[in-house]
Amino acid sequence: MSHFDLLIIGAGPAGYPLATAMARYGSKVAIIERDSAGGTCLNWGCIPTKALLASSKQYHQMQNAQLWGLKAEQVGFDWTAIMNRKEVVIKTLRQGIEKMLQAAGVTLFRGNAKLLPGRNVRVESVENTVEISAERICLATGSVPSIPAGMPVDRSIFWTSNEALSAAHVPESLLIIGGGVIGLEFGQIFSSFGSKVTIVEMMPQILPGLDSATAKRLLPVFKKAGLEIFTGQKVEALDEENGRVTATIAGQKRFFDKALLAMGRRPNLSILEGGGVSLNMDGRFIAVNSKFETSEPGIYAIGDAIPGPMLAHKASYDAMTLADIWRGREIRHTYNSVPACVYTHPEIAWVGLSEDEARAKGVPVNVGRSLFSANGKAVAAGDSDGQVKTLTDEKGHLIGAIIWGPEASNLIIEPTMLSELKIPNREARTVIHPHPTLSEAFSEAMASASGEAVHG
Ligand SMILES: Cc1cc2nc3c(=O)[nH]c(=O)nc-3n(C[C@H](O)[C@H](O)[C@H](O)COP(=O)(O)OP(=O)(O)OC[C@H]3O[C@@H](n4cnc5c(N)ncnc54)[C@H](O)[C@@H]3O)c2cc1C
Repeated sequence: MSHFDLLIIGAGPAGYPLATAMARYGSKVAIIERDSAGGTCLNWGCIPTKALLASSKQYHQMQNAQLWGLKAEQVGFDWTAIMNRKEVVIKTLRQGIEKMLQAAGVTLFRGNAKLLPGRNVRVESVENTVEISAERICLATGSVPSIPAGMPVDRSIFWTSNEALSAAHVPESLLIIGGGVIGLEFGQIFSSFGSKVTIVEMMPQILPGLDSATAKRLLPVFKKAGLEIFTGQKVEALDEENGRVTATIAGQKRFFDKALLAMGRRPNLSILEGGGVSLNMDGRFIAVNSKFETSEPGIYAIGDAIPGPMLAHKASYDAMTLADIWRGREIRHTYNSVPACVYTHPEIAWVGLSEDEARAKGVPVNVGRSLFSANGKAVAAGDSDGQVKTLTDEKGHLIGAIIWGPEASNLIIEPTMLSELKIPNREARTVIHPHPTLSEAFSEAMASASGEAVHG
């Protein structure tokens, strides 16, 4: 039986950064992966959706080329080529991760792992079964789509995000159950390539968790872009009839070619099935203490498998925090400022408290605002719908920011740094923002909170 200092299960954005960090530190590290290096994020999540959204955005711009004084005639698309490009993107990045693990000296085992008592793991693959032991084991097993019991199971018609990412054709009509990030991103991808998309969200707003005023403002934007969206509405019945989807929505029976079940994700706990080890749970997640240790000494867990936002950057942050703890580094890690992004067009990003949360907590907030329609770079680029909204507390500290519009996912880092590092507004305002840039919209919003915006 091989023995390691550290054995990690799952090579996603939680597992592989921990593996490389500890191997570079000198530990003897192994990682087990049953699918592909990069995990859900690279193979079935963040990256493939962004590759498809990139094609969708380019297509939209080509269709509207005249807005930039350009002529693009006979604009069209080739779905197979779009999907092939997505695969090339994934493959390129996956090879990079595999090479990085190899260069760091991490041993990669391919197969399905089961946790056994006594810090042992059995790895089963088509070729063989091996047992591995380690001083420390870290479960970075991620998550899988959460499908409520009783939902239809024919995945050729009732898709999860995995089937949507493998679609051979663009369906004529697509029902998406769930108006969260995954539902909206897929909605925009398929709608832009011709699907008639209907999104049904049971909560009163799209993107539950987003500042409600912003969600309300964005609803007509997505509807105008061609999405049919129901909020505060459940799909009352869902079934298959003659190879098509039937769904009752607001009392009406409707037919669709496919349905995408985008109702969230749950931790992947198959590692614990049948191995004889049980761990304390925190709801549906593996319970861990402040050092990521589970109820079993020497067994740790990070990423989507433990409580917290199910996001790739939070998973990698867990990995870096745990590596710092093990390397004895005194670094302050907090989870106060975890940004969230939606990569639709327009993009949406937020961090910290929403206005609703601040008011519910009784925190007096000063709201700053700036429109991209007053931003030179956005207007010049022909992409000026949207705004930056900032929330500062009585002491002038930024406690939340919501951005929708061009490059929102890149712009959110500035408010994330200010709120995480607790830099007060008056100091932040001494920082020079280059002109013309979209980042000026953020400094204008901050200035508007104290009535000092140049353009507001
Ligand atoms: C469609 C979609 C889009 C997304 N877009 C974004 C986005 O834009 N931004 C963002 O931040 N997040 C996004 N996410 C979420 C993001 O993918 C996850 O938060 C992230 O991948 C979690 O990382 P992880 O390492 O914890 O788990 P995972 O990435 O799920 O990796 C876990 C790995 O463990 C392996 N594994 C599990 N059990 C075993 C076992 N028993 N034996 C061997 N291997 C095992 C799995 O095969 C997997 O490769 C998206 C998710 C989806 C589904």
